[in-house]
Amino acid sequence: MSISDDETKALRDAMVREVELMAAEYARAQRSSREDLHGHAHKRGARSARGLAPRVLAALSAVPRHLFVPPDLVPDAYLNRPLPIGYGQTISQPFIVALMTDLLDLAPSDRVLEIGTGSGYQAAVLARLVDTVFTIEVVAPLAERAQRTFADLGLANIRTRIGDGSLGWPEEAPFDAILVAAAPAEIPAPLIQQLAPGGRLIIPVGGKSQQLILVEKRRDQSTVLREIIPVCFVPLTREASPPD
Ligand code: SAH
Repeated sequence: MSISDDETKALRDAMVREVELMAAEYARAQRSSREDLHGHAHKRGARSARGLAPRVLAALSAVPRHLFVPPDLVPDAYLNRPLPIGYGQTISQPFIVALMTDLLDLAPSDRVLEIGTGSGYQAAVLARLVDTVFTIEVVAPLAERAQRTFADLGLANIRTRIGDGSLGWPEEAPFDAILVAAAPAEIPAPLIQQLAPGGRLIIPVGGKSQQLILVEKRRDQSTVLREIIPVCFVPLTREASPPD
């Protein structure tokens, strides 16, 4: 590796500072829109509006993002930007990774499902915060590359699966938290079904224009949906869509 650990530590910390700045901007925007909406903000949004949880930032600064990007993009690995990872897919922007992780409000014992492993970066961040991460990727070569990266980094608490994540992972359900890294037109019903009571789902929804949505499942199984921020994710593909 051409970049030494010390060098990446400094780059990682600079990236985390940029993410914090962006989170502060987001918090300011949240506060002013809250005033416009006469205080209709949700408590979890209000928490994110105070800034990202320190343990989320610590997880972000601990994961070597340069090991999750293609070799020619290693010099850009610590920019607060999405980057192409091949097969028409992207590794998400670090701020979005941090925001989505923060909104899941994870406890160490939580079982977390991620849809869209991609490079494996988001799963690696989650794996620093919880005991077990389950992650599904539909593009087999991406899933296999991510598996090799997890093994190289000794991340033994990530379980991977190749397939259509819109079906969830029924054998391992229920999950305390589900993070979806690709955008469907509508929230897939199996993901809501596989959410534990009290669980949280963070998912981009839409086509050309998308919103990040936080879904909370109450103890009585009812759900509360809240729009967080406009986002731009790759589409969630359906492997076996029923004929029209
Ligand atoms: N979390 C990733 C971001 C990957 S981009 C990272 O940190 O790098 C979204 C990923 O979702 C792509 O790799 C894409 O192939 C995958 N994807 C799209 N539709 C899917 C589906 N139905 N099931 C599983 N993965 C899917």
